[in-house]
Amino acid sequence: MVECDVEYEKDNIFAKILRKEIPNFTVYENDNILVMMDIMPMSRGHCLLLPKAPSRNLLDANDEVLGKILPAIKKVAKAVKKAMNADGIIIKQFNEDAAGQTVYHLHFHIIPAYRGEKLARHADRKEDNEILAARAKEIANYIEEID
Ligand code: AMP
Repeated sequence: MVECDVEYEKDNIFAKILRKEIPNFTVYENDNILVMMDIMPMSRGHCLLLPKAPSRNLLDANDEVLGKILPAIKKVAKAVKKAMNADGIIIKQFNEDAAGQTVYHLHFHIIPAYRGEKLARHADRKEDNEILAARAKEIANYIEEID
C-alpha cells in the first residue's frame, strides 16, 4: 500500500457526517460506504461515494477497502444515470490540494453529464435542500444492494 505522509484529520466534515454529527442527503448506506448528494453539485444528481474506513485520500487508502469501491461506484453510476436520465457519467477523485481536494476523507464524485450542458464549477453554488432531498430519493429508488 502507498503510504500518505500526512495524517488523517478525524474532524474533517465527511468524518463528522459519517459519525452522524452533521446531517446529509443520503442516497445509500451500508457497513462499508455512504453515498450522499454533493450539496454544491456540478450537475443535477452529482453524488459522492465515501468509504467509511478512514483515509485522507486514495494515496493512503487500504487496498482491501478499495477492492469493493469500484463495483460500488459502477452500481451507483448506473442508478444515477437512470434516475437522472443523464447521457453519461463522469467519475472524479482528487488527491491533495494541488489536485483540487478540499475535504480530506477519501471520496469519489459521480457526476451526471447531459448532452449540450456544461458542468458547473467545482463546489461553486449550494443547491436547495428540497431539491437535494428529492434527488437523493429518486436515485435511491434505482440502487441495487451493494456489498
Ligand atoms: P473535493 O475534496 O475537492 O473532492 O470536493 C469536496 C466536495 O464535497 C465538493 O464537491 C463539495 O461541494 C462537497 N461538499 C462539501 N461539504 C459537503 C457536505 N456537507 N455535504 C455534501 N457535500 C459536501
